[in-house]
Amino acid sequence: MLITLQHIRAARERIAGKVERTPCVLSQSLSERAGHPVHLKLEHHQTTGAFKLRGASNAVAALSPEEKSRGVVAASTGNHGRALAHAAKLEGMRAVICMSRLVPGNKLDAIRRLGADVRIVGNSQDDAQQEVDRLVAEEGLVMLPPFDHPDIVAGQGTLGLEIMEQVPDAASVLVPLSGGGLASGVAAAVKGVSPGTKVIGVSMARGAAMKASLDAGRPVQVEELPTLADSLGGGIGLDNRLTFGMCRDLLDDVILLAEDEIAAGIRHAYEEEREIVEGAGAVGIGALLAAKASTNGPTVLILSGRNIDMALHRRIVCGEAATATERAA
Ligand SMILES: *Cc1c(COP(=O)(O)O)cnc(C)c1O
Repeated sequence: MLITLQHIRAARERIAGKVERTPCVLSQSLSERAGHPVHLKLEHHQTTGAFKLRGASNAVAALSPEEKSRGVVAASTGNHGRALAHAAKLEGMRAVICMSRLVPGNKLDAIRRLGADVRIVGNSQDDAQQEVDRLVAEEGLVMLPPFDHPDIVAGQGTLGLEIMEQVPDAASVLVPLSGGGLASGVAAAVKGVSPGTKVIGVSMARGAAMKASLDAGRPVQVEELPTLADSLGGGIGLDNRLTFGMCRDLLDDVILLAEDEIAAGIRHAYEEEREIVEGAGAVGIGALLAAKASTNGPTVLILSGRNIDMALHRRIVCGEAATATERAA
C-alpha cells in the first residue's frame, strides 16, 4: 500500500485544529552561503516539540469509536510517545507508553505529565515492545507504531503540503530520516504537488538503518550507536511494510552526517537563527554547512524537533561537546 496526496489531504482535514501550522522562514545566513534561497520549516515549534504530533493525531482520530474505547499503546522513548500521549488526552482516551529502565527521567516525566500510563519494563527497546505485544493481546489496546503505519505516514505528510504552499517554487526539500515516516509522507505530498522537486533524506552516519537497507535492497538491521541525533536512532523493522518501499521509490538521495557536522548544525541554528533544535532537527542545516547536499535552487530544510537535554545543548553551543559520548562530561 502506498500513501498518496489523497490520503494526506484527508489527514489534514482530520487533524485541523489539533496541530499547529508552523512557520517557514527565509534564512539570510544560509541563503548567502548556498547562493540560493534557503527556507527553514520551523516544525520544532509544533506542540509537543516535534512533527510526530501530526501522525499521532491523525492515527488516533482515524480510530473507530470501539477502538477509541480500548485505548492506544506504543513503545517509544521519545517524541512519538509524547505525541501519542498528547493526542490521546485530547480525545479523552487511555494511552499506555512502554519504555525500558534506561530512559532518562526527564523524558519519562514529560510523558507522565500528559496523563499517559507509563510502564517501565526491562533493559531494552525489545523488552518494552514485548510488553506492548502483551497489552495488545491481553488488554485489547490498539498499537500505534512510530512510523510504519499508513495513518502515521499520511499525518506526517501534512508537513509536506504546508511546505509546498509556503515555498511553491521549492527545488529541494531536506528531510531528517530515521524509520522514514516523515520522509515517506513529505515526499508523497511534495512530489504529488510538484513532481520535479527533489526530496533528500538526511541521517547520522552512526547507525543509519534506512540508508543501509536502501543500499542492501531490503530492510536490514544495523548496530545502534549513541549519536547527537538520538531521535534518528533505531531500526526500520525487518518486517517493514510501508516506509522502506516509499523511501526507495520517492527519495532522490540520502546524505549521512558525522557527529561534528550535526553539532555544527545545532550551533548554527542557535547562533545565527536563534532557534533551539535537537540533533535530529539540525541535520538539514548540518548537511548544508558541510556542503553535502547538491541543491541549486530554492531549498527547504525541515527543523523537525527541539527536545534536547538543555545541559547538552549548552555544551554544544559552547563548543565543549561535539559527540554524544561527551554527554556525560
Ligand atoms: C522521529 C523523528 C525523526 C525521524 O522520523 P522518522 O519518521 O522516524 O524517519 C526526525 N526528527 C525528529 C525530531 C524525530 O522525533
